[in-house]
Amino acid sequence: MSATSAASSRPTGFVGSRTSSRGKVRAGCLALASMAAFFSSFASAASGVVLEYHHVANDTPPSTSVTPAKFEAHMDHLADNDFSIWPLPKLVETLREGGDVPERTVALTFDDAYASVYDEVFPRLQDRGWPFTVFVSTGSIDKGIDAYTSWDELRQMEAAGVTIANHSVDHAHMVAQGDRDRREWLEDARANIVDAQARLNEELESPARLFAWPFGEFSPPLQRLLADLDYVGFGQQSGAVGPDSDFTALPRFPLATGFDSLDSFALKVRSRPLPVAEAEPASGVLGPDAERPVLNLTLEEGPYRPETVRCYIGGGPAETEIDESMPATLRVRPTEALGTGRTKINCTAPATDGDQWFWYSYVWMKPNPDGTWYSD
Ligand SMILES: [Zn+2]
Repeated sequence: MSATSAASSRPTGFVGSRTSSRGKVRAGCLALASMAAFFSSFASAASGVVLEYHHVANDTPPSTSVTPAKFEAHMDHLADNDFSIWPLPKLVETLREGGDVPERTVALTFDDAYASVYDEVFPRLQDRGWPFTVFVSTGSIDKGIDAYTSWDELRQMEAAGVTIANHSVDHAHMVAQGDRDRREWLEDARANIVDAQARLNEELESPARLFAWPFGEFSPPLQRLLADLDYVGFGQQSGAVGPDSDFTALPRFPLATGFDSLDSFALKVRSRPLPVAEAEPASGVLGPDAERPVLNLTLEEGPYRPETVRCYIGGGPAETEIDESMPATLRVRPTEALGTGRTKINCTAPATDGDQWFWYSYVWMKPNPDGTWYSD
């Protein structure tokens, strides 16, 4: 895919991006690229992209799978376009320490340690000599369920250099307090993290102190807990990772059937973090009666023009108002009432100093009408 074609369609995070009315916005961007961008306070160019897969198989649910053929096509794209594939711990440490991350750096992650990670992913990435990370819910492995890898397979992968990391014991919706009081809820969350790490430590040599939030669901009290426990956390909101990212809930691009086209993949792996100084509310957890919640984003300067930021909610356009005075603020609201479950907001803007896209995403979580949590 050429840089020109990459720039011609705005990434929405979804297949079939709407491009017709926005081509002219993009066309003017390079011509109007302001010298101000060069003197911007947004100095750091270092960033990387973390990809998140689940199953790589033909016979598993499409919503959490890519086919082996599509996975190969993704990996071929990275190889053919000179991407550096870094171990996730190296990417995290380098960004935290303010070190250099080369352009086109990607880390590969696989959640839940499904059987196909050992059967399909491991041999393919071994052949390429590429590192990857598996986030394990230890309870699933302890139960010996066929759909998952075994401890022995995880040990084999670890011995070959694969990073194994923490995805809780039971893969709960950790943000859901249910009928527990606050203290009990946070105690359970702590145990879910600490006990999983204890199992990883018992079964493996050197599991990483990295934690992937089950379902990509987190909230500020849980993020404070994770920071206190000294883990780096990962969500499932889209976007690139930079030194100013929130290391308790770093973004990853989820890849699954329907959201795995090569065109969108090519845009995602080259994306840069949209510099959002503040997102309000800090928590995406809604009450059951929430209808059209407002997200306010405070944007920092960078090599992009705030007025070119476009946001999408659940794949469709969002009601967006922007105040372009600096710091620019963006007010994003769904055009209709949100349904139960997770709804993702994707905001993107074309860079003025290159052909990449800046990307930011946020996830609303809305429980069932009776306040109970949805099932997946
Ligand atoms: Zn998971």
